[in-house]
Amino acid sequence: MDTKPARKRSQMMLLLIAASLLLSGQTWAQGRVLESASHRFEEVAEGVWHGSGTGTVNTMSNVMVLVGEFDTLVVDSHVTPAAARALIDSLAEITDKPVRYLVNSHYHFDHAHGNQAFPQGVEIIGHEFTRAKLNGEIGNVLQERTFRSFSDPVPITVSSLERQLELASDEEQRVQIEQRLQTQRDYMNAIPEVRPTPPNITLQEKMTLFQVVADGSREIQLLHFGRAHTGGDVVVYLPQDGIVFTGDMMLPGLAYMGDAHVDEWPASLEGLKSLDFDTWLPGHGPVMRSKQPIEHFQAYLRDLWDKTNAMYREGVAWERAAGQIDMSNHADNFAQIRGPGVDSRAIRRIYDLLDQREGN
Ligand SMILES: [Zn+2]
Repeated sequence: MDTKPARKRSQMMLLLIAASLLLSGQTWAQGRVLESASHRFEEVAEGVWHGSGTGTVNTMSNVMVLVGEFDTLVVDSHVTPAAARALIDSLAEITDKPVRYLVNSHYHFDHAHGNQAFPQGVEIIGHEFTRAKLNGEIGNVLQERTFRSFSDPVPITVSSLERQLELASDEEQRVQIEQRLQTQRDYMNAIPEVRPTPPNITLQEKMTLFQVVADGSREIQLLHFGRAHTGGDVVVYLPQDGIVFTGDMMLPGLAYMGDAHVDEWPASLEGLKSLDFDTWLPGHGPVMRSKQPIEHFQAYLRDLWDKTNAMYREGVAWERAAGQIDMSNHADNFAQIRGPGVDSRAIRRIYDLLDQREGN
């Protein structure tokens, strides 16, 4: 379906409205930024908000909030029920419309472990793989490497901050460390409350919702382009606004690859590129306006797959391969790259996939 004409029309409408507001001396409301203690919301189109944490509560991931005439749709639920409750409370800054739908971009803890904090009756929508992960049909997310590798070190972070606080002499520094310590302690105490809560509505490839808004309806497409960052990534596409929430399938920097299908990911990103949008909201990081990073990331993924594959064929152990693989040829596009060596969880994952394929 070609959505361009509708979008052009709505852009033209926006221009007309902006012009008439200018003439009448009113200020144009778009681009508003509203904050609570825990959250910052940036309005990227009318009723379309990019939400991120301010640092007082460990949220660990972004959300998108779509405000309609009668209800609100939230994409992703943060890292703990406590973080999700802070989000739900903060929504009062931007709307009084109740949450009707929660969409999970994927099953990872930092995007879906707040699910349980949403009131009974809120429909949770996600890919069927996301449901299978969160209800325990495929593995146990609380015991898997991804959750453990991020969560087990939290007490160590807390005690290291406690030591830093003891040593800090400068008052300003003390205040900063105290703030971080408080956030990390709260986070540590919030983790045991997590009960993975799966979507109760699932999709395989596509689902479309129509939300009533002031001047008609907002089309909300939930799209799965194939396996990528996980087995069930869903992007949320708003064709009328030319906006897409990408979750962790596409980030401004390098995404975590511990559960990824690195070889299939570039093709799934082709699906993302086929959409007509000029603004994308990543699962982590700021609002993005350029599509260029998508191609850079595809090139990185293909190269990483080839280099890891070569190490695997040479019989190099994954731990050593992770230290040796050199992706510096992509350093211009990714600030994280500072020489040879890549995240060992990515290499271990690729070795696992190759083992499965070879029947090892
Ligand atoms: Zn993720």
